Amino acid sequence: MSPEIKPDFLISPEGLRVDGRRPDELRPIELKVGVLKQADGSASIRQGKTYILAAVYGPRELHPRHLTLNDRAYLRVEYRMATFSVPDRKRPAPSRREKEISMVIANALKPALFLEEYPKAVVDVFIQVIQADGGTRCAAINAASLALADAGIPMKSLVPAVAVGKADGQLLVDLGDEEDKYGQGDVPMAILPQTGEITLLQQDGFFTREELIEAMQMGINSCKYLHELQKDALKRVYVRNPEDGEDDFDDDLEADLGESEIMEDE
Ligand code: UDP
Repeated sequence: MSPEIKPDFLISPEGLRVDGRRPDELRPIELKVGVLKQADGSASIRQGKTYILAAVYGPRELHPRHLTLNDRAYLRVEYRMATFSVPDRKRPAPSRREKEISMVIANALKPALFLEEYPKAVVDVFIQVIQADGGTRCAAINAASLALADAGIPMKSLVPAVAVGKADGQLLVDLGDEEDKYGQGDVPMAILPQTGEITLLQQDGFFTREELIEAMQMGINSCKYLHELQKDALKRVYVRNPEDGEDDFDDDLEADLGESEIMEDE
């Protein structure tokens, strides 16, 4: 990876960002569901150069037992960065930052889940940051909620998440790494789109009250867009596309109907 150089400006005189985006434009996003064979549910996300895998195991028996919750499943989230995911090698031992982000992600996901349906069990969510280029906690939530849906965990909603920040006095959605490092602050947030409930809201840096309200509105709009991308990613795996074999589908249906008619005749 080339050494990092502080850019001369984060917003060009034309009002564009270092990577050419408009202030309210997300990075290119690619979501995939069911990417890991061994997991009960899995998903990947590429958000710009940020690349993350999420794997869900469970509901399953909880060890160690003293963590057991009698009225619901325990949602255990482990967010980890690969040693090679950042420009300076990351030390392999779990850092305080990783532990805090794991907790923040669990808290953002919990309100979307019917954990009470699995008392005493555990649902494990493993998140691996393969490449970090800003916005990893939000990208992780986007992927983890898809992986939970893929695992068949009963959910009220998917959980889209995005960070809104500020650079050169301008509010920006979905911060890249340079904007995160050299900007004036960021507000990562996650929502439940159906209810409008906000399940993650953090703030780093200084925002006026008006800026914060506008940042949240920009974040909510971006989350609604991300929610559509999440639903599309699920549909690609779980909903049969009539254009990919409509005839086969009709044939199967006819075969089934034919069989039932034969059984009735008998
Ligand atoms: N980062 C890094 N080394 C680390 C931790 C983070 O280079 O040990 C970078 C990484 O690109 C990350 C960014 O700093 O995305 C911002 O980190 P932050 O803690 O704000 O979390 P994020 O924005 O990824 O949710």
